[in-house]
Amino acid sequence: MPIHSFFDMPTAAPDTIADVDTRPIFHAALEQARKWHSTLPAARAFCPWPQDLRWQPRDAHPLPAADLMCADPGLVKKAAAPLLAALQAIAPYVEWRHSYTAEEVGQKFLDTFGWFELAGPEGHFRSDQARITVGYWGPGLYYPRHQHPPAELYTIVSGTALFDADGAPPRLLGPGDTRVHAPEQPHAMTTSDQPLLALVFWRGAGLDASPRLSA
Ligand code: ZN
Repeated sequence: MPIHSFFDMPTAAPDTIADVDTRPIFHAALEQARKWHSTLPAARAFCPWPQDLRWQPRDAHPLPAADLMCADPGLVKKAAAPLLAALQAIAPYVEWRHSYTAEEVGQKFLDTFGWFELAGPEGHFRSDQARITVGYWGPGLYYPRHQHPPAELYTIVSGTALFDADGAPPRLLGPGDTRVHAPEQPHAMTTSDQPLLALVFWRGAGLDASPRLSA
C-alpha cells in the first residue's frame, strides 16, 4: 500500500507571478523600512515617516538586479539584517526601473543596476508626503554625476560605495551610513569590489521627477 507523504500531494502552484498574494511580504518590507527610519537619527531628522501610505497594486517588472541583490548584497551589519531580508523577499515582485538608457550610462551599468519605489507617488505604497526608494548597484560601477529637484537621504543597507557630490568632500559610505544630497546638487557614486544596496528617502518638490545626468 503506497504511503503518501506531504511531498506527493498535488500542490496548487500559482500559474503566474500575478497569482501570488504579495501584500503580506510588501507590508513586512514597509514595516522594516519604518523601523529602519525610526532607528536612524539622520532619517528621522530628514523627514517624518509618511502618514498617508496605502497599498496600490503595481505589476512586477523584473531586472537582473533582483537576483543580484539576493545573491550578493555585500557587507551587512546585524542592525540591517531584518530590512535586508524583507527587501530580498519582495525583490522578485517589485517594479524594477532603470531610468537611464545604455547610451547615457553604458550597458554594463544597466546589467547590475536597478531601483524601485517602495513608497511614493508611483510606489507600491502610495504616498504624496514622501518618497522611499531602494537602489542596487553591482560592484565596479560608476554612476555618473546626476541631479534632481527633491533632496534625498541615502541610507546604506549593505555594501559600500564612494559618494562624490559637488561642494562636499568624497566619502566612502558603508553599512548604516547616511548622506544627504540637496536639491539639484550634482552627485556621483562609485562602487568598487562591493555592491551597494541603499534605502533612499526623498523630500520636497518634484517627488515624481526623474533624475537627469548633470551637464
Ligand atoms: Zn540622487
